[in-house]
Amino acid sequence: MVKGKRLTYYCIDKACGFKVTNNKTIDGMSCPDCKGMIGVRPAAPPGQKV
Ligand SMILES: [Zn+2]
Repeated sequence: MVKGKRLTYYCIDKACGFKVTNNKTIDGMSCPDCKGMIGVRPAAPPGQKV
């Protein structure tokens, strides 16, 4: 069994700052805070040094 790939969804409006990481798709793909567009990128792998 393969775990779902974790993704980070973020608001493209940096002034908004919305960001969430999960392995599901966000319905509608719009920011819940400002209703703006949502971008997506792979989440940082576990164990990665910060
Ligand atoms: Zn936003």
